[in-house]
Amino acid sequence: MRLSSQYRLTLIFTGVMAVLLFSVNIIMYNLSSGFRKQNFLKSLEDRAAIIAVAHQNENFEEILQELSTKHVHRITEAEDFVVEMEEGGQLDKTKINLPLSDEFFNQLFLNGSAGEIIKNKSFAGVKFKDKNTGQDFVIFSAAEDITGNTYRKKLRTSLAAAFVLAVLTMIITSIIFSRRLFDPVLRLIQSVNSINAFNLGTRLEKGDFTNEISELKDTFNEMLSRIDEAFKTQQKFIGNTTHSLRTPLTIIMGEVEIALGKLDKKHELYEPLESINQEAEKLNHIVNTLLEVARSGTGKQKREWGKVRIDELVKSIYESVIRMDRSFKVKIGSNSKAIKNQFFIVNGNESLLNLALTNIVLNGIKYSDQKKVKIKFGKKTNKIFIRIIDNGIGIPKDDIPNIFLPYYRAKNTYTYEGFGIGLPLTMDIINMHGGAIYVMSKPNFGSIFTVELPLAVSNKTTFGS
Ligand code: ADP
Repeated sequence: MRLSSQYRLTLIFTGVMAVLLFSVNIIMYNLSSGFRKQNFLKSLEDRAAIIAVAHQNENFEEILQELSTKHVHRITEAEDFVVEMEEGGQLDKTKINLPLSDEFFNQLFLNGSAGEIIKNKSFAGVKFKDKNTGQDFVIFSAAEDITGNTYRKKLRTSLAAAFVLAVLTMIITSIIFSRRLFDPVLRLIQSVNSINAFNLGTRLEKGDFTNEISELKDTFNEMLSRIDEAFKTQQKFIGNTTHSLRTPLTIIMGEVEIALGKLDKKHELYEPLESINQEAEKLNHIVNTLLEVARSGTGKQKREWGKVRIDELVKSIYESVIRMDRSFKVKIGSNSKAIKNQFFIVNGNESLLNLALTNIVLNGIKYSDQKKVKIKFGKKTNKIFIRIIDNGIGIPKDDIPNIFLPYYRAKNTYTYEGFGIGLPLTMDIINMHGGAIYVMSKPNFGSIFTVELPLAVSNKTTFGS
């Protein structure tokens, strides 16, 4: 948007103004140069007329000599010729070694005087009759307008410099003005982009907007309010429904657990009951996720906050994931040995952290077609990291920045079930805990999700102590 509109506006404005300015400069130059040339030609004709009068004088040669050394009408280095006309008023053009056109001679015979400019040289001719002898003569004067040429050169340089300066000024001012014009719009776009299903309560702030943009902002805020209202109603419904599902689900899971505990593994009902247990566990995860999504839309709620032991959290995630399907290959990382004598504590809500990390682990299993997923954890200065590694389909580079956006799914996941709400919820929960998530992924190679959380206490204590 910035590139296309802002720079297009700058380009169009500068382009139009540059063409206009260039045309004005050309017109000004031609007018001034033409006026100067005509002036010089007139002066040259005057000079020829003076010579014609002087020709009647006995001291003509001296006068001519003096004239050629003096600047008449700012004319320097002029050449003057007196050519005698033949009988019948004809002129032998071969005697005149000047590149003059026929039009010049026509004008000369018709008006008695003529002028012509060829390249940079001006030519003037004046016809006259010697009073004493009655002989017809023509005086030709030829000169170059040296001061005029210098003037034209200076004019060209000044106009070119003024043009370049004006274009530069126009580019700079149009960039500044288009920025002023577009920056509020860009800020508005940024604010709009930051609004998603998890923060629909956000409204666009007042800014130094023009009337139209301010109206657009108000309209957008009104629309947001309507969407927010509709979304809240929907979430309330999801929240209530999932909440009602939770109690029977907990009862089913509890009862099945009791039944499984009482049955021998070889019993014919053991397998179906275990299958019920697995499905109930999966359902429980889905219900919890939905419940949290519904809650996150209804403003920040008070959560039970406490100390959470990461090793225990990872273990319980491992156990619940395995309970969902015994065929899942989840492994708690080998470096757990290195931290055997330590445990790490973070401040937070255990069930939320469990939900967030389980989402990542289940994604690892799903997108690697149930190949092995490793969970590693450890300490990094004053943070604890939990790393979930899979060798699955990976995430295309372009999709990585978007996978935490609600309902976003990467291009390569169309054959996999999913809705794109797990990772945004995970991100929301991790942010709530002051942590961060980093993703490294290569298509067809695998993904590494690293969750970092601020460490509350780090004790060198044996497990269970
Ligand atoms: P979904 O229900 O689609 O899995 P999520 O919000 O959990 O939704 O994930 C969002 C998207 O991120 C997925 O659709 C997928 O494209 C990508 N993704 C997440 N984890 C992985 C992974 N381990 N491997 C490959 N892609 C992943």
